[in-house]
Order: sequence, then C-alpha cells, then structure tokens
Amino acid sequence: MHITNVKSTYVPGFENPYTSFTISPEPAEDESSGGSKRSFRGIQFLNTAGDGYGPHQTTLGDIADKIPPKPSLKPSCEKCRKRPDQEGSGFPNCASCKVSRYCSRECQTSHWKEHKKLCQRRVKYAELERDIEAKALSTNGPFVSQAALRKWYYDNVDIVEYTIVQALELYKGPRHNLWRTHAVIISLKGGKLGTSVAASEMSFSDAEEGAFTTLARPDRLSLTAVELTALGAGSRIIVIFVLNNEFDLKLVESYDLPSDEEWAEFEKDDMWRMHIRMRKMAQMMAEKDSAEESN
Ligand SMILES: [Zn+2]
Ligand SMILES: [Zn+2]
Repeated sequence: MHITNVKSTYVPGFENPYTSFTISPEPAEDESSGGSKRSFRGIQFLNTAGDGYGPHQTTLGDIADKIPPKPSLKPSCEKCRKRPDQEGSGFPNCASCKVSRYCSRECQTSHWKEHKKLCQRRVKYAELERDIEAKALSTNGPFVSQAALRKWYYDNVDIVEYTIVQALELYKGPRHNLWRTHAVIISLKGGKLGTSVAASEMSFSDAEEGAFTTLARPDRLSLTAVELTALGAGSRIIVIFVLNNEFDLKLVESYDLPSDEEWAEFEKDDMWRMHIRMRKMAQMMAEKDSAEESN
C-alpha cells in the first residue's frame, strides 16, 4: 500500500481545499523490504487545510469510522412523525403524489389541508417530468427523476445526516446554527449522457449551505419564498439534491429537527467533505485490513 499524487487544490466557492491522491493496494516494489505488514487503518493523511485550522492530520481508520453506516431510514408519517418498523415496507403513501407517507387514515385526512398544495405540485411535476425526460434523452442529455434522487437519499441517509450536521453547523447547538436561514444543497455526480440515471449510478460530489434569500434567484434554484415555506423552511431542515449541478432537476426534501439528545452528540468535522468522499474506499480497505489481521 502506498500513496502517491497528493494534490490539494482550492475550488472557487469552497473554503476547504479539495485534496486528491492515489492509493495503491500493493506496496511499491522498493518499499516491500522489511516484511512487517502495515495496518491500512494507520495510514496517515495530512491536509494543509485553510479555514484557519492549520494542517490537519487524520488516518484511513479515522475516515472509515467517521460516518457510521446506517440502514436506510423508512420515511416517517407526514402528520405525526411516527417512524415505521424499519424491517417492513413502511407506511402506505399518498395515492396522488406517491411521496408523502401516513401511519393511518386519520393522519392522512387531518393532514390533507396542509398537504394539498405540495401534493398538487408533485403531481404536476411528475407530468412535466415525463416531457423533460423525453426531451433530455432526445438531445443526448442525462436525465434524473425525482424518484431516483429520492432513492439515493434513502439509500445514503447516513451521508445526508452527516452533511446536514456539518453544513448547517448543528454541532453549535440548537441556537447557534444555520437551519432557520439556510438550506443544504447536496450535489451528486454520475450518470451517462443520453440515459435515465439510476440511484446506484450517483455518488456524493459536494455540498454547501445556501441562504433561503439567495435560493430564489433564477440562476440558482428559482424556489420562491412561498414554496420554501410550504416545504417547511423555518420549521424543518431543508435539503436540496441536484445532479451534476443541474439546478433544474432538483429534489427538495425536508427533514425533522434533531431530538434533544441528538444535538448533544454532534461533532464538528473540519474535513467532512473529504471524509464523505473517501468513506467508501476507506471502509473497504479498513475491512479488508481487519479481516487479514484476524486471520
Ligand atoms: Zn401518523
Ligand atoms: Zn400527496
């Protein structure tokens, strides 16, 4: 195992440098003397990060452990926020928009007045989406549906939660953070030109916080203040998913506020973007390493 091509570059608009490097699983030929096996977990990274934090050292094991993997979360009841049994198929959804879920007929009925506007928007969007898809594919563009973005979200809910904590600075506690004024924009990458992109083809690219007041700009997400309020801005955490920075093809989800106990558990991670990007590889290598050690 050795690391080469370490490169830190600043990307305009992002405070932290983007660090890239190549990890080769086998030792370089000239390093293989000595015979003692080095632990993958102990491999060190040095990030010459800006942001006034100074150089920051971490290990592959740290990265692998940073975001604990969790099963995908089945959506809670839109009305009472009860969570379904994670083993089952989840609560039934609204027959019209097929998105909102309800634990009971009572919850659905009493939520309708509140839900109606969003439900109608979703139905209208689903109709538009079929046209957008046909157009995108005929001009050899990639297309990602709301359903595919939503599946990615549920499949990667641990990354989404981690991103929210870091981007909105929830680790500062219930009062000193950004959720009341900012949304989290999670950019995904992947997909091939001329195809409809599946959830499994997308991966985390980057994330940033965006002030509600600037999201309404036409060159950004063109979400009106009224729409944002309807989606729960100000009372819930707002997360926006985009693919390849195409702001037209977006998914907006709202997220429950953390519980009192959860606030206390949040930790600041200066290198969260890198931890998310590196997590899969680090986990694979750390798992392989511990499997070899236990042999
Ligand atoms: Zn309910
Ligand atoms: Zn609905």
